[in-house]
Order: sequence, then C-alpha cells, then structure tokens
Amino acid sequence: MKTLAILAVAFAITTVIRAESAEEIQKMAARLKPVDLVADVSQLSTGDRAAAAKLIEASKIIDTLQLRQRWSKNERVYALLQKDASPLGKARLDYFWMNKGPWSVLDDNKAFLKDVAGIPVPPEKLPGAGFYPEDATKEQLDGWMKGLSAENREQAQWFFTVIRRDQNAGFVTVPYSVEYRQDLERLAGLLKEAAALTDNASLKKFLEMRAASFLSNDYYDSDLAWMDLHAPLDVTIGPYETYNDELFGYKAAFEAYVTIRDDRETEKVGFFGSHMQELEDALPIPAEYRNKKVGAAAPMVVVNEIFGAGDGNMGIATAAYNLPNDERIISKKGSKRIMLRNVQKAKFETTLTPISRLVLAPADQKDLDFDSFFTHILAHEITHGLGPHEITVDGKKTTPRQELKDAYSTIEEAKADVTGLFALQVLMDKGRLPKGEAVERKLYNTFLASAFRTLHFGLTDAHARGMAIQLNYLLDKGGFVAKPDGTFAVDFAKIKQAVSDLDHDLLMIEATGAYAKAKKMMTDLIVIRPEVGKALDKLKGTVPNDIRPVFVTANELTSARPPKAARKK
Ligand code: ZN
Repeated sequence: MKTLAILAVAFAITTVIRAESAEEIQKMAARLKPVDLVADVSQLSTGDRAAAAKLIEASKIIDTLQLRQRWSKNERVYALLQKDASPLGKARLDYFWMNKGPWSVLDDNKAFLKDVAGIPVPPEKLPGAGFYPEDATKEQLDGWMKGLSAENREQAQWFFTVIRRDQNAGFVTVPYSVEYRQDLERLAGLLKEAAALTDNASLKKFLEMRAASFLSNDYYDSDLAWMDLHAPLDVTIGPYETYNDELFGYKAAFEAYVTIRDDRETEKVGFFGSHMQELEDALPIPAEYRNKKVGAAAPMVVVNEIFGAGDGNMGIATAAYNLPNDERIISKKGSKRIMLRNVQKAKFETTLTPISRLVLAPADQKDLDFDSFFTHILAHEITHGLGPHEITVDGKKTTPRQELKDAYSTIEEAKADVTGLFALQVLMDKGRLPKGEAVERKLYNTFLASAFRTLHFGLTDAHARGMAIQLNYLLDKGGFVAKPDGTFAVDFAKIKQAVSDLDHDLLMIEATGAYAKAKKMMTDLIVIRPEVGKALDKLKGTVPNDIRPVFVTANELTSARPPKAARKK
C-alpha cells in the first residue's frame, strides 16, 4: 500500500483531454513541479556506493518492465516518441514518461495522445493493463478462472502471473519468471553484483534471495528477508502494488525505490514507540476506556530516496509505503512502513510553503517548519496504534471498525491527526521533547497551514474528510481563528484545550462504537464554510499539484564524478 502524502488528484479534467499542441501538454506537465531529489550519501561505504549504482541500473530495467505491464504497446510507442525531435514530439515524450504511458494519471488516466505514428491509443487506460489479453472481458476471465482446479485458480489469481491466450484462443496462466524472462535474468544478475559489492550482511542476503525470486517466481523468502533488512543502503525492488490491475486487483506491478536510511529520523520513531503506554495513559478519556497494555508500534523506517522506478515513479510521487502485501508474510512477520523523508520535504516546499503564504498571517509564516510537519506525520502513524481497538458494545466484544462501518476510516484518520498533536504536546509538557513558545508556534501554525493543503486537494479521501472535521471543530472552539483579511491564525490561549476536546470526542466515538454520533459529526463538519472556501479559492491555479523528482544524487552515483559530500539533505 502506498501513501501519496494526502495528495488526492486535484481539479481532474473530466472531459476528453487529448492535447494537440506542445503548449497544452507542457501546461499539463507543469502541474508536477520538477524538484531536485538529493540525499546525503557521505556515510555510505565505498562498497555500498558501488552497490547503489548497480541497483540504480537494475531499477532502469524495472522501468521497462512496468512500462510493458501497463500496456503491451507502451515500449513501441515510447521508442517512436523518442524519434520525434519536434517541440510537440518532445513534450509528448516528456509527459509520456511522467505517466509511464499515453494516459494522464492526473486526469483519471484519460489519453492525452490520439495515436502515435499510426498506433491508436485507447481513450482510457485499459483496466486489465498488460496483465490480461486485451480482447478478453472480465466475465470471460472470471468464468475461466471459476472452471479451474483450486490450485490452478490460485495461480491464475496470484500476484506474479499474467494471463495470455493459448493456441486454441482459450486462456493460460504464465508466471512472471517466464513472461519477463530476459529482463528478469539481467535484473537478477545486477542484484547479485550489488550483493557482492555491499558490506552489509542483511542487504547482501536480501539481494541474493530477491535475485533468486526473479527467476523462480517465488517471492516468499525474499519478502521475509526484506522485513529483516537493516542497512544504510535500503532498497525495495520487485513486483508489489496491484493498483494497475483495475480488472481484478490481482497482479503486481514492478517498482523500485533505492534509498538511504535516515538513522536520526528512524530513531525518532523508536522514541515514540518507547512512549506508547505513557501516551495511552495520558489520552483525554476516562481511564476505563484506555488500553492497559498497548501493542508494540509497527516497524517504521525513515529513508531518503535517491532513485525511484516503475510504479514507484509515476504521476503523484509516493511519500510512504507499507509492504509487503502478501498476507502470508503479514500474518507471520507483519509489514514495514517506509517513509520517504526527502520526498515529503520536496512536497512540503512545493505545495505547503506557497499555501502558507496565502492562508497564514504574514507574521506567522516564519513558523512554517518542515521538522514540525514531518514529526507530526510520524506521530500520526504511531498514534493509529493508540486509543480504543477492542471495545465492548451492549456486552459484545467488537472493534471500532466494525461498529463505525463506513464512518470508520474518516474518524480514524482524524483521530490519528489529533492524537498526534495531543501526544506531541504531552511529550513537550513532560519535557521529553524540547518545549517552549517557539516550538508550539511551529507545531500549530504548520498544522493549520497543512489543513488547507489537504482540503485544497478535495474532500475525496478519508484523510481530507478527517481534516475538514478538525479544521471546523477547532474554528468552532476558537483554537483557530478566521481573520477579517482572509487569513487564519492560531489562538494560543485556546488551541490546547480545543485539541484535547476534539481528541476526547473522537476517541469516545471509537470507544463506544457510536455510529450515529460519528455520522452526525461528519454531516455537521465535513463542509467547506464560506471563509474557508474563500481561502481555498485563492489557492486555485497557483499551487502545483505535486512534485516531479529529478534524481540528482542518483545521477552523481552513476556518473564518473564523485558525489558531492557537502550536499545536505
Ligand atoms: Zn493515517
């Protein structure tokens, strides 16, 4: 599962968007602002640097594989586009690469090209992508799968197989290791070379096992080795997410993230993790509703990305991901959450900074602070683990998810945001984190600006709906104030109590499984009020949707020049 940093697609154009001129395509592309992605590699050993270069080379094969998986004609179209040196040709090539195909991700995967040198482009991305025969309907495939033996059906529905036509125009299941053999052999070779170069035992083990998986098509052991990966040079490479298979959601797309572990930030997660019980005991609800024994926090690793490929570098930039998706691994070993800090930072600078200039009073803009923003994201993730998880309603054991049904994800996302704020305040008050007026100003002003960023991208997902609840509640309680000049400010005399009250209300909804209360809160507060609407109108057309990474550090690592050690994160 991946998180796009609460960036839903904004202002999607719903009509046909086929662009006929270079200018039109450039305008579409400009919605993602190019940003240099830099990571500090000065701490890497010589062996790890050489290994990183091999992994970047391997990731370029991942790009090719994912291109083929998205559409069978993608590679041919890409080759044809590369031959067109006209301004229109260059613009088409550039936007094609951003989208890994002729369909615009920011516009619901509608085609921006009619055809390329006689190859017609379907008006929308094919739901089955390159995983199934293009002429097969869902019903035909479904009927065929139902007729298979249990074992064969499992293979047909497995993550790592494609469905092809057999000689009799029927269907046949083909493992990735057969379908993509040539490329996977090259990929395995590069991973083995990288394994020989690194001096980290867990990375060596993972790379050797993953190389074997590419050829055997069995990813189980190498997924387990990835869970145990603990290395300065961190990598995620293989077939993972199933979003591209819109027909069934079975088939995994190839992606790669080559990253540098950020030990200081990862320690921060450990710090929160070690205070889980203390934070639970401080939650603003009666003691009987608090969890006496909080479970361990899920493993989380903070990294800085040096290269992304395939499904990991398409459209909106991935800011975090949770893997693996294979339930057998999750039930045995759990899953791991990877936070891409430099990607979050680039998004912060590209979207939140310009938003803050429009919604915060000039005197408060100096308080916009990336560390506060990122620490709150970490706190949000951690505090999903706090609060009621096993509850009793009418004498029956149940969970907030079961009781709150369709309201659950919105309430839970709002809870994680607010409990995150509450927890950071508790840790400051107890002197476990640096305290004082300056840090509080940064925390709450940054959160206020980020509320507008989230709402700017529409009320489409649980995070955004949860944010509407928070902003309106905190405005009603006077913790946030709408100024006559159209900007917003924090009232520091009221904000802490307002956050505590809101956290109480959300936690009690979960603790008592109060579905009707949850729905009422959503009806009352998931609205855009006039003063907020006016501020959001100011943002329209002035703020990029997202970033487009330029892999500066990766280019340095793969070129002959030594990396600039002086570069900062
Ligand atoms: Zn969340």
